[in-house]
Amino acid sequence: MSFLACRDVVKRFGTVVAVDHANLEVERGEMLALLGPSGCGKTTLLRMIAGFEVPDAGEILLDERLLNNSRVFTPPERRRVGMVFQDFALFPHMTVAKNVAFGLPKGANRAQRVGELLDLVGLEGLRERFPHELSGGQQQRVAMARALAAEPALLLFDEPFSNLDPSIRQRVRAEVKQLIHQVGITAVFVTHDQEEALSLAERVAVMIQGRVRQVGTPREIYMHPTERAVGAFIGEANFLPAQISGARAESELGSMAVRADFEGAGEVMVRSEDIDIVPSGVGIAAEMVGVEYFGHDMLATVRLDSGRLVRLRRGTSEAIEPGARIALAVNGTALAFPVA
Ligand code: ATP
Repeated sequence: MSFLACRDVVKRFGTVVAVDHANLEVERGEMLALLGPSGCGKTTLLRMIAGFEVPDAGEILLDERLLNNSRVFTPPERRRVGMVFQDFALFPHMTVAKNVAFGLPKGANRAQRVGELLDLVGLEGLRERFPHELSGGQQQRVAMARALAAEPALLLFDEPFSNLDPSIRQRVRAEVKQLIHQVGITAVFVTHDQEEALSLAERVAVMIQGRVRQVGTPREIYMHPTERAVGAFIGEANFLPAQISGARAESELGSMAVRADFEGAGEVMVRSEDIDIVPSGVGIAAEMVGVEYFGHDMLATVRLDSGRLVRLRRGTSEAIEPGARIALAVNGTALAFPVA
């Protein structure tokens, strides 16, 4: 049985169904990202796991212990669940050491334990500082030390990196990942940032409109979305009407290899990085419309002769001006989804 299980969990706010029969299983010791667009219900699900919101239906179990169902509600302090908030929620008038001590259970050997926790997060030298005297990354480490002080079985993070300056975010992410592995704790973090989820988590749960739609490794989620909505949310994809037959799809982007479990009318999903520019005469004729330049690569918008716009990502070595005639071909195997 999984370590954390959310089964058919529902939460409504008035007429808004924030979480709609969500199911999620997290294994012991794993680091899972709950990823989804703004408003999909991920923070609400996290807050129900922590015990800050009461579900309207469903059950939540941790380590085979029922935390919630229609009759049972375990209060947050008795769940063995720690939470690191988006704004870190440190007490501004307390030193680093006192902030961490706040999380300790009564009767613990406090001074020694605070020292150990600050050592763990690499802040022993800053114990007498106040939160406003710390960088964002340091504040986050204090928040983690405080959450770990209560020896939780599960650590939850709500958008943990969104308050950090982009220039340090990557480094802090790597530090947090390393720390979580070192402690060996099970961790769930909520994010709307797909790059963050794909790069940090061992498994990603994609939530859309209140439901967990797919759970898998970052690679599975990206390469094998099980439904159109997941494919459309992760990465950049073009969707084109297509006829599917015998592992091939015919579409306005030509004929391509496809993986599909149906035949007939559907839609192909072609990732922007899977469209190549090829010599004219061998590909589908198109016209360059515009380019977004990112330095390491660029995202081009191209108009097919059918009038449809598609986007393709490519290197920046060769500049192609808007208006230029080009030809396109799809490389690799596309995915297809039945028309809803
Ligand atoms: P974001 O990434 O923008 O934080 P989210 O996926 O975490 O979004 P939630 O904060 O869980 O989404 O919100 C889900 C839905 O529930 C939204 O439509 C939101 O407006 C609504 N909602 C959340 N909390 C409340 C509340 N306390 N009262 C009323 N509606 C709420």
